[in-house]
Amino acid sequence: MQMPEDVGTDDCLTSYTHIYSPDLLKDQVAFITGGGSGIGLRIAEIFMRHGCHTAIASRNLDKLKEAANKLSAVTGRHCLPLCIDVRQPESIAAAVDDTLKQMGRIDILINNAAGNFLCPAASLSFNAFKTVLEIDTMGTFNTSKVVYEKWFKDHGGNIVNISATLGYKGQALQVHAGSAKAANDAMTKHLAVEWGPSGVRVNTVAPGPISGTEGFRRLGGPRGEAAGTFQSIPLQRAGNKTEMAHCTLFLASRASSYVTGAILVADGGSWLTSANDVSMLLGIASSNSAKL
Ligand code: NAP
Repeated sequence: MQMPEDVGTDDCLTSYTHIYSPDLLKDQVAFITGGGSGIGLRIAEIFMRHGCHTAIASRNLDKLKEAANKLSAVTGRHCLPLCIDVRQPESIAAAVDDTLKQMGRIDILINNAAGNFLCPAASLSFNAFKTVLEIDTMGTFNTSKVVYEKWFKDHGGNIVNISATLGYKGQALQVHAGSAKAANDAMTKHLAVEWGPSGVRVNTVAPGPISGTEGFRRLGGPRGEAAGTFQSIPLQRAGNKTEMAHCTLFLASRASSYVTGAILVADGGSWLTSANDVSMLLGIASSNSAKL
């Protein structure tokens, strides 16, 4: 099976073969939360390779500036690094104002920022649960609402949320992220219903285990890969960041012009067959925390 190119680090691709028309997002502008690393960075790169300008927004401005330089150098498109915390609506409002001032428009919003770790529910502090909900769920609502009010309400646009499959069967050690993403999947449909008449489509990509990401490393991916556990996934491998970017590109572009309120599961069939054995996963969690 042919996989698209990827690199395991937060660097740009060394080569890229277009599947879609290179002009698909020509002169559009995408605002991407968490666009300085992992899946978000690759989404920014693939969008820029399709003619899009981007604003990448998260907490660590140094990391974002470095990413923006790399992205612009490789693609020749403009990339604006912006400091936001998705838990603080004022910080988002300032960043969206900046984007509109410097780039003149926003066509696409990618809600990708999130936090995650493995932890049994019984050991999870009230504050840890709340923090994940605040970043993943409130963060997605806050950013969507700010972009809607400042631009999409009058011009239309596309929102793509990056979710997960954790809640589908109650993945052990992930009550926090699973609950947060389940709320986001509901939000995708609520906002699709309410904002469709304004020309706003709202969709979601739900990745499975994706190599070359912080999430993959923290959630035991490399160890699972070495132990051969991915053989039980129908497609028998982890996904890569470019594959997630291609799914996101589909939903963010006119390729999916009649699709809204949809959740595109991009996990190689993983959630259908993957292990959900608490004691085995607890073993992975304790060996990971021993390494920290
Ligand atoms: P990642 O590199 O850690 O990306 C998360 C990003 O979110 C970071 O760039 C981080 O940047 C940003 N962020 C965190 N808290 C923030 C806050 N309060 N405000 C603004 N930005 C914040 O991880 P990833 O694995 O690529 O994950 C990307 C998305 O894919 C997430 O939504 C994740 O749930 C989803 N996903 C990943 C996998 C996987 O296997 N990796 C599987 C399923 C779903 P700063 O530190 O600069 O703020």
